[in-house]
This record gives sequence, C-alpha cells and structure tokens, in this order.
Amino acid sequence: MELSHHYSHRGFPITNLLSPEQSEQWLLGHFHPEGLKCPWCKSTVERANVFRVTRKSELKVYRCKDCQSIYNLYTGTVFEQRQLRPQQAVLLIRGVLKGEPSDVLARELELNYVTVLQLRRKIQENAELLQSEEPLPDFEAESDEMFQNSGEKR
Ligand SMILES: [Zn+2]
Repeated sequence: MELSHHYSHRGFPITNLLSPEQSEQWLLGHFHPEGLKCPWCKSTVERANVFRVTRKSELKVYRCKDCQSIYNLYTGTVFEQRQLRPQQAVLLIRGVLKGEPSDVLARELELNYVTVLQLRRKIQENAELLQSEEPLPDFEAESDEMFQNSGEKR
C-alpha cells in the first residue's frame, strides 16, 4: 500500500487513517499491557461501569465498582487531562519517537504547538517507562497494517 508511506505529504488529515478503536487498542497495549485497571485500587476494568464518554476525545470514562474512582485510558499517562483523540495520541507518540519536528506534528495532527512541546517532553522523559508489547521498530509495519485494515472496513 504505497499510499501509507506518503500520507503525511498529501495534505489530508492523517488522523483520519486510524480508527478510534484501533488507536485505543494500541494505546491500551502501550500504556496498560496487563489490561486497564483502576489506578487507585487496581481492580480490573471488568469491575467498572462506563460512567460517561468524554465529549472531545470520545473516551469511555469508567467508575470502579470497588472504590468508586473515575478513570479512563489516559489516567496515569502523559495524556491525562488532555483532550486528544486516541488517533492523535498514537500518532503523536509515533512522531516524537521518530524525531519528527514539533511544528510538523502540530500541523499534521491539528494540535496546539505548545501542547505538542509539552507532551513531547513528557513522552521523551517517560520513554523508558513506555515499554510497549509491540516494540517500536515494528510500529511502521504495524501502522501500515492498521491503515490497510481501516481501508478495508470502508
Ligand atoms: Zn478502584
């Protein structure tokens, strides 16, 4: 699929190439390789109810049945309190770890430049902690696969 290698230069939002579900799955594997848990009492997400869905980032917000705490996919990560959509979060991590310039990332991902700078610093500080199930060198191939899958669904 030659398109995916040039997507960032064609002038359309690259975030449209990833589905929210695929992006959430990737973030889940990246930040919570053992599964999403309540950050306070460590009960699994199966022991939580969906409390609401955030308006801007469209993330499910869970309420833990054991301790009544509220949490989501970003809780305890560099994206906590940010309004990024999952696609933006995946592509920002990818861009930062590939060393792409902040102004380019801000433009491509339609994010505020200062937000990109702040998140870039945190992503780099946490780089050792962000050990993913999927090692980074494979992410290129994996994202191509993700793009292909999202294309097939349409
Ligand atoms: Zn809890």
